[in-house]
Amino acid sequence: MVRERTITLENLEENMERLKQFGLQVADRVRGLIILKHKVTGRKFIVGRIRCPYCGKEFPLYIKERYWPTGVSYEQFDSEFKNHIDHEHKEEFSREWIRCIKEPYQQGSWHKVKRYVCVKCGFKSRRYADTLIHVIKVHGLAKAKTS
Ligand SMILES: [Zn+2]
Ligand SMILES: [Zn+2]
Repeated sequence: MVRERTITLENLEENMERLKQFGLQVADRVRGLIILKHKVTGRKFIVGRIRCPYCGKEFPLYIKERYWPTGVSYEQFDSEFKNHIDHEHKEEFSREWIRCIKEPYQQGSWHKVKRYVCVKCGFKSRRYADTLIHVIKVHGLAKAKTS
């Protein structure tokens, strides 16, 4: 039977010991957002509240920890932010931050996959969270509003 736990910014601290035992460590803290990295798989996760760069609305970024007979897995949840951007600010966001493209799985391949591309430097990943973490860390997305 699968059990699961939701890890948010609010309960991260009390869950940290166990997350560490399963290989997840804090890799970075950026403007109140916590970036975690799995020491075996290298996979990154982000927990916290992200502010929309256009209208200022906040959205939770969190992970789910799931227990399987074979071990523990983690899943990133970022779709509230992503859906908001896709519905409200798709054009600006894909011009200024992240663009979604479809390209061959590998060169010459007919099989096409979605990739999320950083428009500022060309970094890309098939995983939205990776590119999101990248633009937050490297290019300052989700900066606190100064005005
Ligand atoms: Zn917005
Ligand atoms: Zn970049």
